[in-house]
Amino acid sequence: MTERTLQLTDQLSAYLYEASLREPDVLRRLRAETSAMRQASMQIGPIQGQLFALLVELVGARRCLEVGTFTGYSALAVALALPDDGTVVACDLSEEWTSIARRYWEEAGVAYKIDLRLAPGLKTLDGLLGEGSSDTFDFAFIDADKEEYEAYYERCLRLVRPGGLIAVDNTLWSGKVADPAVTDADTEAIRAFNEKVRDDERVTMSLLPVGDGVTLARRR
Ligand code: CA
Repeated sequence: MTERTLQLTDQLSAYLYEASLREPDVLRRLRAETSAMRQASMQIGPIQGQLFALLVELVGARRCLEVGTFTGYSALAVALALPDDGTVVACDLSEEWTSIARRYWEEAGVAYKIDLRLAPGLKTLDGLLGEGSSDTFDFAFIDADKEEYEAYYERCLRLVRPGGLIAVDNTLWSGKVADPAVTDADTEAIRAFNEKVRDDERVTMSLLPVGDGVTLARRR
């Protein structure tokens, strides 16, 4: 029995990419351009993008939601995995970051699937709830300001249908969640969020040690 997750050395990490990554060229180039930015660590990794594409197929997703789009890697990975009539409602605040995203979405030929909403995430989610979009989404990805994770989650849980999936990024937070000496607001928020989801009987969940930690919660 293996109780402890394998530690990834640089060598093994390189092998993981070599042995499993199918990253399309357009995603690879978006990742490279974003990697040169000061905020590069806000981008999800390609292993995670590929996992999301698989999850989108598994839940048979047509309608997806994303809170925190940044330069558009995750939205693009999801959009490429969706059928032609699929959509991603992508929420972000930054015109600057999402202008990079839009360039790659256009180039990949999936811009028509992505409905970018430049507004505070909670405002967009509340708007969707107000216009009767409860129970209509198949997949949601939360990767925005950590102090609002619980608020995003509660809204996404109403917006996804029963059987729909919510993915939440950074739930292992560089390991800081496990260090009691770290008590900044973001770390505390993620800790509280993790406990909440663990005990939430409304979902079936798993916290995967992929990237910076990805929680998957399927609405029951
Ligand atoms: Ca993230």
